Amino acid sequence: MDYKKNDIVVMEIEDMGTDGAGIGKPGGFPLFVKDALIGDRIEARITKLKKTYGYARLEKVLVPSSFRVAPVCRFHRQCGGCQLQALAYEEQLAFKERKIRNNLIRIGGFSEELLGRVMEPIIGMEEPLHYRNKAQVPIAMDKEGNPVAGFYAGRTHNIIANTDCALGPAENREILEAVLSYMRANKVRVYDEKTGKGLVRHVLIRKGFVSGEWMVCLVINGKTLPAKEKLLQALTAIPGMTSVSYCINEKNTNVIMGEEVRLLWGSRTISDSIGGLTFSISPLSFYQVNPIQTQKLYELAVEYAGLRGSETVWDLYCGIGTISLFMAQRAGFVCGVEVVPQAIEDAKENARRNHIENVAFFTGKAEEVLPQKYEQEGIRADVIVVDPPRKGCDERCLDTMLDMQPEKIVYISCDSATLARDLKVLCGGGYELVRGRGVDMFGMTVHVETVVLIQRKDT
Ligand code: SAH
Repeated sequence: MDYKKNDIVVMEIEDMGTDGAGIGKPGGFPLFVKDALIGDRIEARITKLKKTYGYARLEKVLVPSSFRVAPVCRFHRQCGGCQLQALAYEEQLAFKERKIRNNLIRIGGFSEELLGRVMEPIIGMEEPLHYRNKAQVPIAMDKEGNPVAGFYAGRTHNIIANTDCALGPAENREILEAVLSYMRANKVRVYDEKTGKGLVRHVLIRKGFVSGEWMVCLVINGKTLPAKEKLLQALTAIPGMTSVSYCINEKNTNVIMGEEVRLLWGSRTISDSIGGLTFSISPLSFYQVNPIQTQKLYELAVEYAGLRGSETVWDLYCGIGTISLFMAQRAGFVCGVEVVPQAIEDAKENARRNHIENVAFFTGKAEEVLPQKYEQEGIRADVIVVDPPRKGCDERCLDTMLDMQPEKIVYISCDSATLARDLKVLCGGGYELVRGRGVDMFGMTVHVETVVLIQRKDT
């Protein structure tokens, strides 16, 4: 390879990396180019070279890919959120299927032949915009010293003002503008992450898509909110407003939410329904961001679990108990485990409000609760469902699952790389991959949910 930094190269984009960057191979040397799409012929400037690959900046699209479409948001290139907005939705789905497959092959060690047999086609979205029921919007100061709400420019902490993200409902804008005018009128200060001074850090907005209920929670670096009646005046005039609170986060950290929420107005939770079940959701609880696809995801998980009515199911990383309650309607008994105490509170409340009695919920880490219950109480499971965060399951959790030898494990994952890593361990311990399928919950982004069923080989 004899390229140098700043060289201009012309190339065809043949593939796309897991973060959505286009990959071209001029002279056989792989270059990653953000915003270049598979099928584009481009001109790019080399920005960084490593031994076996490099990075380049898109200078000009010479011949656009047949998959190129007009992006809906003018910030799509700057924003870190929508990496695939210029790619036709059908091709976004193809990208996600390839991503899952490649991870399962490269990291999981599964054969192409097996995946060809067991993987089912990805479940796409009917409307890949305005699907998010939750927004966590950072607040910052513009050059004139005014508070602005927006998003971080890709990979940085620089904020670009925009209250109109195309992934969320249009009403988010009205809510954010109300918060900003309250801040301006009452001289409420913006938090500055460099100095650790100032008050308002983020605004969390959640909407129950079925219930029409809205939740607003300001994340603040302090214990009280000045002139709160002014904020309430504006927010409570918005139709459907149900819960207004603030969350205290005084730490100098990238973690958005703090641990304590104080209610300012209305109820602690909002409600929403999926597939005939109703759920209470509090600010600190996890709740899937795309409720329409979530129903399809949960139905698939139930189908994979193949319940006949008498099984004992463990639902690890259960959040507010949504999957547990879906499963409980078709199982003997379901136990949920979740680390966030407020989510377990919500889960118990959700069992009550849906009159589901064959469930129990435990607070704690899956990798601690499961081994403890297994070693001390000898619990067993016919089916274990796991739905961990991106980092996947802890080794101790995987080991205990292998000790428990449930007939089936349904693994729901938002990161197919850690899924593949964990499946390698489980399939090395006597399980085989039986079914798998992507579900697109995050249109326009590179993220994709995957559900797989693995089964004990001797069953
Ligand atoms: N199954 C739920 C939640 C999935 S998100 C749903 O579909 O809504 C993952 C959940 O795992 C979050 O609620 C998070 O708080 C929780 N979590 C993260 N680490 C955990 C751990 N080590 N043990 C148990 N739960 C954990």
